[in-house]
Amino acid sequence: MHWRGLIDRYREYLPVTEATPVVSLCEGNTPLIPVDSLSREVGDNVEVFVKFEGLNPTGSFKDRGMTMAVSKAREEGSTAVMCASTGNTSASAAAYAGRAGMSCIVIIPDGNIAMGKLAQALMHGAQVFAVQGNFDDALTIVRDITDKHPITLVNSVNPYRIEGQKTASFEVIDALGDAPDYHFIPVGNAGNITAYWKGYVEYHNAGKSTRRPRMMGFQAAGSAPIVLGHVVEKPETLATAIRIGNPASWKQAEAARDDSGGMIDMVTDDEIVSAYQHLARVEGIFVEPASAASVAGLIKLIQSGFFKQAKNAPPTGRKTRIVCVCTGHGLKDPDNARKCSSVPISVPASIEAIMEHVCLDLSR
Ligand SMILES: *Cc1c(COP(=O)(O)O)cnc(C)c1O
Repeated sequence: MHWRGLIDRYREYLPVTEATPVVSLCEGNTPLIPVDSLSREVGDNVEVFVKFEGLNPTGSFKDRGMTMAVSKAREEGSTAVMCASTGNTSASAAAYAGRAGMSCIVIIPDGNIAMGKLAQALMHGAQVFAVQGNFDDALTIVRDITDKHPITLVNSVNPYRIEGQKTASFEVIDALGDAPDYHFIPVGNAGNITAYWKGYVEYHNAGKSTRRPRMMGFQAAGSAPIVLGHVVEKPETLATAIRIGNPASWKQAEAARDDSGGMIDMVTDDEIVSAYQHLARVEGIFVEPASAASVAGLIKLIQSGFFKQAKNAPPTGRKTRIVCVCTGHGLKDPDNARKCSSVPISVPASIEAIMEHVCLDLSR
């Protein structure tokens, strides 16, 4: 059957009607990829999956929220959308607004947005303003402007964004036949952890799953306001998509953590880079650095013996399932990819010169 996007597939769970002019790029329906190298590390009878959201139309999960936000904006007669963005929101907003025939204005932190994302926003025809400030500053400005002018705010404080994004949980349950035991996720502005939890709760209430996962959120150590319990004025991390010091959905993220019996913890940039490299080299999955925070969190817990504690040990009699969301595609951020890998070896155009350097050690 032709997949026509998540509004078409999950219409009954979404605030849309026949009158909603759906703006879709056939987003959603992303793969749940088994990652055996990590399954073994957690323990026997465990399956770890990556929900690869980088395979959405603009390369991140933001498309799930944007199909809803832009469709509803159009239904309400709006002609312009605006967002603050660490990059992916702007890429997605620009694409969907373009498709809807609406204008798109985006505000990004100058110098801290990955090249691929900027290229997308510009290419899709958004008006892009780079402010000398961070994401939190940009969001404050955007909230103020959209309060006073007839422009629709499409950051995740727009409730339709959360509605669209919750469908990723539905897909996980539809694919596995039940909810996983653990759900690992990067946390930036905290809209996505809010959305996944909402999706898991709603599908559970609808009788589609027998359980709800423990929500395991991970912030970058240099931008970990929820873990530290206070706003971080100057957030720092190479994972620019989660470089946020004052998350808009802070309270909702804590509620998701507490209601699910989960945790919100942090991982260092070094841990993020190792997970980033591991996924690419060993599993063939190229994600952007922020996306690797979920897997870095899992590796951190494996190494700390978390799964060996009785209360976290895999149950007997059935497989334990762990899902790690990888939120965006690696091609978004070519600069970090270059920095975190070796350089090409420059050689004359001869067989001998190349064979001199070829390395057949499969362990690399
Ligand atoms: C937006 C984004 C995040 C953070 O999601 P929040 O909803 O802000 O917590 C993580 N990774 C990527 C790739 C993103 O684009």
